[in-house]
Amino acid sequence: MRRLLILALLFSATVSALAMPRNEPIPGGVAVLHEGSGVARAWLGSKRLLIVPSGPDESIILVGIPLGHKSGPLKIRIEYANGRTGQRIVQVQPHDYPVQRLTIKNKRKVEPLAEDLRRIRAEQKKKHAALATWSETIPDIEFTMPVQGIISSHFGLRRYLNGKPRRPHGGLDIAAPEGTPVRAPAAGTVLLADDFFFSGNVIYLDHGEGLITYYAHLSQKNVEPGQRVQAGEVIGKVGKTGRVTGPHLHWGVYLNGTPVDPALFVPQEQASH
Ligand SMILES: [Zn+2]
Repeated sequence: MRRLLILALLFSATVSALAMPRNEPIPGGVAVLHEGSGVARAWLGSKRLLIVPSGPDESIILVGIPLGHKSGPLKIRIEYANGRTGQRIVQVQPHDYPVQRLTIKNKRKVEPLAEDLRRIRAEQKKKHAALATWSETIPDIEFTMPVQGIISSHFGLRRYLNGKPRRPHGGLDIAAPEGTPVRAPAAGTVLLADDFFFSGNVIYLDHGEGLITYYAHLSQKNVEPGQRVQAGEVIGKVGKTGRVTGPHLHWGVYLNGTPVDPALFVPQEQASH
């Protein structure tokens, strides 16, 4: 009943066509599926998917497409409130992300020592636990940029650090002077505020239904785990902690446990330069 009430309230606020996120069925993109009412749950494999009301008798399912799914069909399983089940297929289009080569002066941040690896593994566990969070809050999925600055690295770049292949870039880098305020792009709850080997000072926010955002390399964290934050609230400051070439915010957006392009969640003109 409470959920129905929330749905009704949300619906009244979202009568206009949903602008974000944009449908981009590529690896690291988001598929936006328009469904009728009565969708109770949706799944990609074992991962539950985000569902938001989008109009009269309409809801949308957001599917975060794993970067490792290079192309071809992705099967979505849907459970309806009346007990029926159904399936939708997302045809993932291939996409070639550009290569980026970076030089990191602190070599230990590229080839960590044995003692660093222990720390990194412990941090990975915390990160995976944060990304596996599911809360029943229906999130606001139209974000504002967390920092005013210049986009220095787009999402998905195939990275070579000091000539060595590393994982693709899982977020958006926004260059800004150290100390620039970082603001929550939408309301959420702080999952984690910590200090990581590669990522420096980090914050994870849970917006609801598996939509998690992530902020790295901060000079300062202004929030604590469990704290509720509002859209626009300052959660930290831009810095250069962890593995960086200069002060910037690394902003990550995760859906169903997979990193997706944050630029899809903000107005195009904000994320294109
Ligand atoms: Zn980054």
